Amino acid sequence: MTESENIAEIRRAVQALCVDFPGTYWREKDSARAYPGEFVDALTKAGFLAALIPEAYGGSGLTLSDAAIIMEEIQASGCNGASAHAQMYIMNTLLKYGSEEQKQEYLPRIATGELRLQAFGVSEPTSGTDTLSLRTVAVRDGDEYVINGQKIWTSRAEYSDLMLLLARTTPREEVSSKTEGLSVFLIDMRKVVGNGMTIKPIRTMMNHSTTEIFFDDMRIPASALVGEEGKGFRYILSGMNAERILIAAECIGDAKWFIKKAGDYASERKVFGRAIGQNQGVQFPIARCYAQMCAAELMVHHAARVFDAGGNPGAEANMAKLLASEASWAAADMCVQTHGGFGFAEEYDVERKFREARLYTVAPISTNLILSYLAEHVLGLPRSY
Ligand SMILES: Cc1cc2nc3c(=O)[nH]c(=O)nc-3n(C[C@H](O)[C@H](O)[C@H](O)COP(=O)(O)OP(=O)(O)OC[C@H]3O[C@@H](n4cnc5c(N)ncnc54)[C@H](O)[C@@H]3O)c2cc1C
Repeated sequence: MTESENIAEIRRAVQALCVDFPGTYWREKDSARAYPGEFVDALTKAGFLAALIPEAYGGSGLTLSDAAIIMEEIQASGCNGASAHAQMYIMNTLLKYGSEEQKQEYLPRIATGELRLQAFGVSEPTSGTDTLSLRTVAVRDGDEYVINGQKIWTSRAEYSDLMLLLARTTPREEVSSKTEGLSVFLIDMRKVVGNGMTIKPIRTMMNHSTTEIFFDDMRIPASALVGEEGKGFRYILSGMNAERILIAAECIGDAKWFIKKAGDYASERKVFGRAIGQNQGVQFPIARCYAQMCAAELMVHHAARVFDAGGNPGAEANMAKLLASEASWAAADMCVQTHGGFGFAEEYDVERKFREARLYTVAPISTNLILSYLAEHVLGLPRSY
């Protein structure tokens, strides 16, 4: 497939930036579980994290297809876009449903890097994937909302100035449809951390800066509400499609990294007097992963195009995420196998990328839930829940 010069230019620009952040940089951050702030700053300075912000607000006004290429190339270069990807997909809800006042207030400052919008608070410990059962509540009190509850897995919260939060504003028993009564808020975290909001880091198997967050009578101005009260679930769903497509693109980048790494190693490593890659038992898994990745990549591009054309890419975004996360995980496993014992040595970066790639069949939505969506909503099978 030949790409436009515009896309090729984006790839070259991202690659040039990523050269300054080699494996040694990521290994150090990984072992210290430290936030890669220098990398995020460099992405911001180069304008990549403002790709989806319209030019009128200081961004570059690119499409989701372009943004997907940025994220893919970051991963294919061996870097970890999970440190920054949320800014791109959270943006979607603000762009589509935020008021002109909110856009004027935040978007130009996000574009310059003065503010980071990196925290997305949806998941909760008790509701799990059943988002509509979430328990965090926001109660209107004059010109303010008072928020109580808890979120979990709110990644990058310690390194973000703003957070997009989903909370219940009308009790579930009082709404006609269970998708009603949830609202989205754009919260200036600088004003509430230590003042109703407590952030606790969670250490995970990879360097992901994720946290749990407690809300204890946290007061925010009513102007933080995005769009209409009670319609938040619909707003979030649109952002989730963007999230799934961008993360699927990251998985494609990871798969490309693993395939290249495995191919290079298989060509160089000599055992029994010849390159291990001469053995079809070593070649074929690499070739199979390549075919799997290419097929998934087509679906990612298709989903992004449907999104950019203003359609509802629910099925396409889910399939892109399903196929791409499976392709990257298969490639990760193949890459370790190709490297033999060296696949476990830190200095090869394979084990680090392997740990990082494992996340995406679980988050931001797990494989089972995607299959259930396709079975029930696309194929019309009976509902299981
Ligand atoms: C490192 C990390 C970062 C994250 N970052 C964020 C973030 O920034 N913001 C945020 O809001 N969330 C975030 N998440 C949360 C993530 O989206 C959820 O972990 C994910 O959606 C799965 O939900 P759960 O963990 O509650 O699993 P559960 O819902 O408890 O599910 C557990 C398992 O059961 C399966 N399962 C559940 N119900 C069914 C069913 N009906 N049929 C078949 N199988 C079922 C699931 O597929 C899964 O495999 C993050 C998670 C991780 C681990």
